[in-house]
Amino acid sequence: VNEELHQKEKLAVIGQMAATIGHEIRNPLASLKGFAQLQHERYPETSDYYSIMIQEIDRLDLIVNDLMYISKSKALQIEKANIKDIISYTISIMEQQAFAQNVKIETEMEEPLPLLDCDEKQLKQVFINLLKNAIEAMPEGGTIRITAQSLGDSKIAISVEDEGCGIKSEDIPNLKVPFFTTKKGGTGLGLVITNKIIKEHHGDVNIESNVGKGTKVTVTLPRESNHHS
Ligand code: ADP
Ligand code: MG
Repeated sequence: VNEELHQKEKLAVIGQMAATIGHEIRNPLASLKGFAQLQHERYPETSDYYSIMIQEIDRLDLIVNDLMYISKSKALQIEKANIKDIISYTISIMEQQAFAQNVKIETEMEEPLPLLDCDEKQLKQVFINLLKNAIEAMPEGGTIRITAQSLGDSKIAISVEDEGCGIKSEDIPNLKVPFFTTKKGGTGLGLVITNKIIKEHHGDVNIESNVGKGTKVTVTLPRESNHHS
């Protein structure tokens, strides 16, 4: 127990540092980006270099943003929410990217679904991360199926299934490791954040995948926050 407490304190200190440093890093990044954009317009003949700079600055910003998110151990703001609204919101955010990549998003939700005790903002983040991964797994297009259903009286299961590249079985254990990514512009933090949020809700994340066929990520959440499953 003592060791566990020690570990928690250590994480809290690291978290605080990450949050402070993250803030200090983002401001200079913003000014670097501003100047790179300026030069990009001023010297079109070298513009490839500047657009790479801008892209890389954006990537740094994303990493810092995700790190700050992980380190921020904010207590959950639990309220009753409608999972359908959360999913619709998420789709509206990701629609543009899906459309650009020829990806269709289908939903199949049980009617009526009971309300869920959750931190709505954080759950939106979870489904944005999952949808983003699903879209990124299908560069040639395809279909994403989102389903939501009750499991007995006390749980709700939501799954996001794609027809993308799939995950190699040897990579599965790495999915919970911060910074593990197989993508060129990836941060390797999306699933870490997703797991953290779902664990805080006393839920579970389950990933099934077949290389070349697709991936199904299922999130199971207790309906009531005092009902720790
Ligand atoms: P990132 O998307 O920045 O790489 P994530 O934590 O979201 O970070 O995902 C980590 C890795 O897990 C990805 O780089 C990819 O290899 C794999 N992955 C996650 N979701 C999927 C998916 N739906 N299909 C295929 N691979 C996936
Ligand atoms: Mg991701």
